[in-house]
Amino acid sequence: MQYKYHITTYGCQMNKNDSERIEVVLNKMGLQSTGDVESADVVILNTCSVRDSAEARIFGQGANFAKLKQKKPNLIVAVTGCMPGRDKTKELKKRIPWVDLYFANEEMIHLPKWLAELNPDFRVMEDLETDYLNIHPNYHSKFQAFVSIQTGCNHFCTYCVVPFARGTEGNRSLKSILAEIDDLDNKGYKEITLLGQIVNHYIAPDPEFFSKDNIYKKNDFAKLLWEINKMKSIERVHWTAPHPIYMDEEMIDALTLPKQVNFIHLPVQSGNDEILNKMNRRHDRQFYLDIIKKIRAKRPDMAIGTDIIVGFCGETEEQFQDTVSLFKICDFDISYHAKYSTRSGTVADKMFKDDVSKTEKKRRWQILQDLMEEITYAKNQKYVGQKVSVLVERCNDSWCEGNSNEMKLTRFKGNESMIGTIQTPEIYKAGTWLLWGRVV
Ligand code: SF4
Repeated sequence: MQYKYHITTYGCQMNKNDSERIEVVLNKMGLQSTGDVESADVVILNTCSVRDSAEARIFGQGANFAKLKQKKPNLIVAVTGCMPGRDKTKELKKRIPWVDLYFANEEMIHLPKWLAELNPDFRVMEDLETDYLNIHPNYHSKFQAFVSIQTGCNHFCTYCVVPFARGTEGNRSLKSILAEIDDLDNKGYKEITLLGQIVNHYIAPDPEFFSKDNIYKKNDFAKLLWEINKMKSIERVHWTAPHPIYMDEEMIDALTLPKQVNFIHLPVQSGNDEILNKMNRRHDRQFYLDIIKKIRAKRPDMAIGTDIIVGFCGETEEQFQDTVSLFKICDFDISYHAKYSTRSGTVADKMFKDDVSKTEKKRRWQILQDLMEEITYAKNQKYVGQKVSVLVERCNDSWCEGNSNEMKLTRFKGNESMIGTIQTPEIYKAGTWLLWGRVV
């Protein structure tokens, strides 16, 4: 009998990358992936805890699985990701009694053993690896791949659950990272995205694997970028997420490496010093503005993205206006806005009052959203008449799409043979979220 599994992934790219690793574990056990949850024998929910709403979605699934288990008594439902990671007292688990397995990401190496215990028909296997990051994922693309270099975080921003969900910072061995990227390079991959909670704080546990000619001295992440820039096939290097305080001179210099995409995502969260301090961001407004200035001095045309939280505990209108003014100065190309919601266990939850009303958070969110759309639309007009470099991701009805080097979604006429190649369409029309081009 062919047993099947279904994985639903919530949240960030790191979770998606972890799901690609879980697939490898399950494939090695002889299970087959299915897109249809009803035909699965093992269902894995890879959860996100960043917002209340993300966890609420998991709590709301009990009835569905109760029904499925009636039809299939041997169905195994597993919950992994941030929720079990942060749930040290197992309080959250009590709210999902329908779950058979509940494990943090790094424990995925034990899945073969646990699944075989629950269903003796499954193949019994030894754990695959001791460090789950060393499992090479089941990449979903033949030309783009995520590569995790780090997990966890030591920063404890007061609003954030990541240090609780994923633990303190753990850096993957450089040897293992380089082996994975080398393998991708040999297979002809064009773009890799390096993932970590603070990628630019990567510290190689085995620095002896950096090559002797590496031009960077102190910053191990800059050194890693240098190593990747020497590879043959990989043409674009993208990474997320850096922290402003580790954007030192070597990091800013590394932005000029030839394979670096023309985009950086640098979270700021607020433009007001008092709020930044309450968030424990460890820098002030001016520090962030100085970094943006230095980046623009090296790469004037680099597109810049950010994350902002509105309505953080005690945020006044005046403090919010500081965020609006910072937004205008930085002239962001894209910004992800979150309305603050308290997360149990965090310092903000224990020390501050979530006292900005929902209506006010919504209003501030909308102001930033409108501002972003206005700025992005205006900025995108500069591409009209220019050629942009696009890695083609898909092609439907002769329309090809992919991101430009600036991470702007671009559409142009083409054909399926272009998928996975880099094309340079000339842009004739620019909207807020889409550039229209033609390959001349
Ligand atoms: S730097 Fe702050 S926001 Fe980012 S993962 Fe660490 S604690 Fe969370």
